[in-house]
Amino acid sequence: LTLLGLESSCDDTGAAVLRGADGRAEILSNVVAGQADLHAAFGGVVPEIAARAHAETLDHVVEQALAAAGVPLSGIDAIAVTAGPGLIGGVLSGVMAAKGLAMGLGVPLVGVNHLAGHALTPVLTDGVAFPYLMLLVSGGHCQFLRVDGPEAFHRLGGTIDDAPGEAFDKVARLLGLPQPGGPSVETEARRGDPARFDLPRPLLDRPGCDLSFSGLKTAVLRARDELVAAQGGITEQDRADLCAGFQAAVADVLAVKSARALAGQAGLTGFAVAGGVAANKTLRARLEQVAAEAGLPFVAPPLALCTDNAAMIAFAGLMALEAGRVDDLTLSARPRWPLDTAAAPLVGSGK
Ligand code: ATP
Ligand code: FE
Repeated sequence: LTLLGLESSCDDTGAAVLRGADGRAEILSNVVAGQADLHAAFGGVVPEIAARAHAETLDHVVEQALAAAGVPLSGIDAIAVTAGPGLIGGVLSGVMAAKGLAMGLGVPLVGVNHLAGHALTPVLTDGVAFPYLMLLVSGGHCQFLRVDGPEAFHRLGGTIDDAPGEAFDKVARLLGLPQPGGPSVETEARRGDPARFDLPRPLLDRPGCDLSFSGLKTAVLRARDELVAAQGGITEQDRADLCAGFQAAVADVLAVKSARALAGQAGLTGFAVAGGVAANKTLRARLEQVAAEAGLPFVAPPLALCTDNAAMIAFAGLMALEAGRVDDLTLSARPRWPLDTAAAPLVGSGK
């Protein structure tokens, strides 16, 4: 089966061509057009601008993906599209484009949950077998999922406030570092002393796998303000030490909760991470160690497949189609769409 995947749920417009069968697939192309420059002046993603940019860019990325794959439109057997969760305008742009393509080509259409795309990526990249534990850590999400099958997810816990990527971005902002904050903070942290500031490890004393990052960010803000009050500003070294301390706290919290999540589950085949924050080397090393201590392989897909992309959507679509699920032209865009419907009831306009 040759699938065309579309992704437009946040600020990246993606199209990918993927060929596969029986839960295995090869990525023929994976094109992502970012919008960072369009939103830079606003300090965050502006939904209206994102939706318009997706609508304008989708045709173009589809053409690029087909050309890069060397597959004509007539060679596409099915269309997979992110149908949520995400910014509704962007998701709608993708769903409309996908419907048009599916109708025009007379091929099946399948709506994919964006989070399922992330969560199934280890199967695509490393052939990981079910069930495995997935830690999704990105700019918008943070959750532990036990992945039992292509459409069977069990949420074990997640952040009760900010996502870690969001916290990295806010910390960078309050220390005057460029966006995206994750890479800037990581670079600064290399010269810093992680032990100088006594930053909190939120929720470690609480049982379960829930996490919190907003208090940590506030603690960095308070430490900065104390330095400013005491010495009139912060030095390069202060900044590096704050970055190192913050990064160490995030890694500590995620490592402890990951160990707890792994310990609570029997029969896992591995521990996988996805999301932009998984690029962080300090964090990766800690999580790798946690997996090793649990006697499980650690899987971290290449960064281009950890962040938002359409190849993961095409792959999740392939698995859905192979499981016998297909949508029709009534497919709706869902701003909210929890993966684990047992843990959180459906909210919004989904059928
Ligand atoms: P989502 O996919 O949940 O909708 P998103 O598109 O913002 O959110 P990603 O593209 O997966 O998320 O990741 C972007 C986030 O990852 C940003 O917040 C960025 O600061 C963070 N990030 C990127 N590189 C690093 C790094 N080396 N260390 C820490 N954080 C990082
Ligand atoms: Fe994402």
